[in-house]
Amino acid sequence: DGVVYTELQRPCRTMILVNPHSGRGQALQLFTGHVQGMLTEASVPYTLVITEHQNHARELVKKADLSQWDALVIMSGDGLLYEVINGLMEREDWQEAIQTPLGILPGGSGNALAASVHHYSQLPPAWNEELLLSCGFMLCKGLVCSLDLVSIHLTSRQRLFSFLSLAWGFVADVDIESEKYRHVGAIRFLMGTLVRLAALRVYQGRLAYLPAKDAPKKDKASTKVNCSNTPQQGLFCSSLSCSLVPNTSSKQSQKCTNSNSNTITNSSNQAASKNKSEGQSNARTETLVDSLLPDLDQPVPEAWTVVKEQDFVLVLAVYQSHLAEDLWAAPSAMVNDGLIHLIYVTAGISRPALLRLFLAMEKGAHLECGCPHLVYQKVRALRLEPISAEGVITVDGETVEYGPVQAQIQPGLARLISG
Ligand code: ADP
Ligand code: MG
Repeated sequence: DGVVYTELQRPCRTMILVNPHSGRGQALQLFTGHVQGMLTEASVPYTLVITEHQNHARELVKKADLSQWDALVIMSGDGLLYEVINGLMEREDWQEAIQTPLGILPGGSGNALAASVHHYSQLPPAWNEELLLSCGFMLCKGLVCSLDLVSIHLTSRQRLFSFLSLAWGFVADVDIESEKYRHVGAIRFLMGTLVRLAALRVYQGRLAYLPAKDAPKKDKASTKVNCSNTPQQGLFCSSLSCSLVPNTSSKQSQKCTNSNSNTITNSSNQAASKNKSEGQSNARTETLVDSLLPDLDQPVPEAWTVVKEQDFVLVLAVYQSHLAEDLWAAPSAMVNDGLIHLIYVTAGISRPALLRLFLAMEKGAHLECGCPHLVYQKVRALRLEPISAEGVITVDGETVEYGPVQAQIQPGLARLISG
């Protein structure tokens, strides 16, 4: 499948973060019942950290001495990994920190990454404890590959990093409304979908995206995106000096990330960065540049496609295969394909047709339903501007600020225990 794996260091000093409230509130019991013995047998030394509140993990990894750890593993749903990735990216040494191998053990109600990783391993589908065992086994095997992240800009100028999804409309509403059914486990999404279907609504907004150019894997030359064609492109790509190669091995993506990053150096000395006192900690910060994105208040570049419709039922950008254990949303997505898989459904779809799409998604067959309201595009960047006064936008299943938002792929920025 073209994914390059390396082996984890041995012994692999592993920090395992557990959210005791995720899913049915049994993450800790699931860990001791199914994973602990496996790790002992495989001689994987680990330290268990039980989170006490939301953002505990985020703060912890932000300050942790990462030289003590060879892997950070999350035993929870996707929400806890989202915290960990953003905590790592908030560090001054984010470039190194985000290279720490990350692992996922499904303990939540939304275990999309665990389901995706299991799917990539080409094993027959698994759920619940079986999925947990599969992910535990991968952790023991210790193979690591690169993981695409998506950089997301909100209206307030805040930037977030996402490994799974950006959603607005039906999917985001179901995700958030169904949190109250967390205790029933993964089936919460089906329950939420049925409830939302009964109260189906339309969401008004504008959508634009930068299409990805498909190209054969080996022909790198033809897949390059040349950003200096038109004056407009030249403007928005002013800081872009790298070529984007869609199917990146970890080495290639590494290269691209590096040439994408720009050093914003406060002229004060480097010693300041070593001084941990408040207010000086940002004295020397290297910032990851999102070279595909213009400013959020500037028009999108000419190379972008602007969608004509403005009435949507859902807009979903997903960068892993599964959106939940039972939702195979992007059938062709790979762990580091360098792509955002954009799916949107326009207004006018009937309730039965929408239900059919979600039922087909269990088998990854929704794109072949011939539904005239469904559009699927592989993209590298996108912008969404909601017009409806109220609504929900989620990133990796977590609610973010509602308003204009844009995103771009950062190929292979992180590393994942997988395979
Ligand atoms: P689930 O799949 O069940 O939703 P998640 O891992 O997504 O599980 O976690 C749900 C939410 O709980 C996330 O927003 C996460 O940040 C938050 N969280 C993490 N640790 C704790 C904790 N100890 N107490 C309460 N909330 C927590
Ligand atoms: Mg969650």
